[in-house]
Amino acid sequence: LMGQMMDQPLLISTILDFAARHYGSSEIVSQRVEGDLHRYTFRDCHRRAKQLAQALRQLGVEMGERVATLAWNGYRHLEAYYAVSGSGAVLHTINPRLHPEQLAYICNHAEDQYLLFDACFLPLVQAIAPHCRTVKGWILLGDAGAMPAAASMPNLLCYEDLLAAQDGDYTWPVFDENAAATLCYTSGTTGNPKGALYSHRSTVLHAYASALPNVLNVSSRDAVMPVVPMFHVNAWGLPYSVPLSGAKMVFPGPALDGKSVYELMEKEKVTFSAGVPTVWLGLINYCLQNNLKFSTFRRTVIGGSACPPAMMNTLIDDFGVEVIHGWGMTEMSPLGTTGGLLAKHMDLPKQEQRKILQKQGHAIYGVDMKIVDELGEELPWDGVSAGNLLVKGPWIIASYFRHEGGDVLENGWFPTGDVATIDADGFMQITDRAKDVIKSGGEWIGTIDLENIAMSHPAVMQAACIGVFHPKWDERPLLLVVLRAGHELGREELLAHFDGKVAKWWLPDDVVFAQTLPVGGTGKIQKNKLREQYREYRLP
Ligand code: ADP
Repeated sequence: LMGQMMDQPLLISTILDFAARHYGSSEIVSQRVEGDLHRYTFRDCHRRAKQLAQALRQLGVEMGERVATLAWNGYRHLEAYYAVSGSGAVLHTINPRLHPEQLAYICNHAEDQYLLFDACFLPLVQAIAPHCRTVKGWILLGDAGAMPAAASMPNLLCYEDLLAAQDGDYTWPVFDENAAATLCYTSGTTGNPKGALYSHRSTVLHAYASALPNVLNVSSRDAVMPVVPMFHVNAWGLPYSVPLSGAKMVFPGPALDGKSVYELMEKEKVTFSAGVPTVWLGLINYCLQNNLKFSTFRRTVIGGSACPPAMMNTLIDDFGVEVIHGWGMTEMSPLGTTGGLLAKHMDLPKQEQRKILQKQGHAIYGVDMKIVDELGEELPWDGVSAGNLLVKGPWIIASYFRHEGGDVLENGWFPTGDVATIDADGFMQITDRAKDVIKSGGEWIGTIDLENIAMSHPAVMQAACIGVFHPKWDERPLLLVVLRAGHELGREELLAHFDGKVAKWWLPDDVVFAQTLPVGGTGKIQKNKLREQYREYRLP
């Protein structure tokens, strides 16, 4: 017996239709690359997204063809999100922090037909254009005044002129919800980047689930600032989950330093934000140095790499900001788990609660997970047994774009490459990435724990722990730290700080005090670079 409900495909265009019709006056405020603050509403965004969809059709973009963006977070980028996917084409968001050679590689691999870019990326676009074989036109996200001299490069188009030529009288096509909607490449720390090709269905389901109270808890009373870039796994889905919740959106554009983020948050009364730990470092430092507090900012999700407990404590205790620890990956659209407390945790002492909040959190409905040992045998959920983390669900990839890497699933589960524990209540904690884990005398040492302890020292701003060669133990931990400005700290003093916090054999064998640590395109410390750099390092 079949249910007798309407059969309507879950399409991305319906999210913007809904936002414009039911929350039409909710605002979208953007810090533009032009330098000023732009504001309009979901109703305006809807009209312009349709104009862009018309323009793309006139340019000959067909269903399933890829249209790329190279842009910061802003309203025009949001219009592209809806116009490209909504019209049946595939939005390919490119990370401008990638090396130009990698940019050209993925542009060719994706066979991008058009590429929309912020004016500030013109030099980058000019550099890669001769190497991008499939791009028919380069669309500058600006008006005629932002256009360079016509001779500067061929096939250059003006976004605002394209839109102005259209009347917005456009009906979104209706098609299979399993059609491709967006394409996002992994950062490719090992080998060439691989594409995760999301569908309309996976995107809409992820948006529904991520707005839930246990996850991001977005409502129409929020003002949400996605600090995480729209080229980093679709800004963790916020461009979809926020419009469907009717909240105000605040886009920081290219201005991601502490001062700019703080001032925009205050001016636009931001209540909720999301980003990687490195961004919050800048914001917290700026606030501490200038003795500032937040007047409306109450909640943030931090993920992409482990949120250091010291950072979580500062945000909660000194600034009154609730921290939701989130874990996920490009292959998972990206959300898999979010942190939070259960009812039974509410009466626990603060320190006990903190330990729970510091875990990567509970699975979101839609994601199933398990941990297995080297032989693939499932491990118990006891909060101690650590194993390879596998996931499955409707917004997790089944294979990479163009089937790169072949079959990636293990009996229907996607291996995340992370090592984790899961406790009896279902809270997952990442102990390491499989490739970062240190193997000392056949035993594993998790580097996240060691880094968190180092960063709990008041003089330490950043820490990274890597395994380096040891003649007896194969590998031993080497700790690299960046100190806070104006602080001094010796090797012995820092190592003494680990006393009683980890087993003796986990103690780093040596400490290197560095000026900076290499950071990749998504704001994470590049441990592969560090391992390369310290390959010959002689431990004491
Ligand atoms: P990349 O693999 O290119 O860095 P992703 O953004 O997809 O890009 O990274 C996913 C990985 O980031 C996860 O597999 C995990 O190792 C790490 N990660 C993400 N969130 C967290 C978190 N909250 N704690 C620890 N590690 C995290």
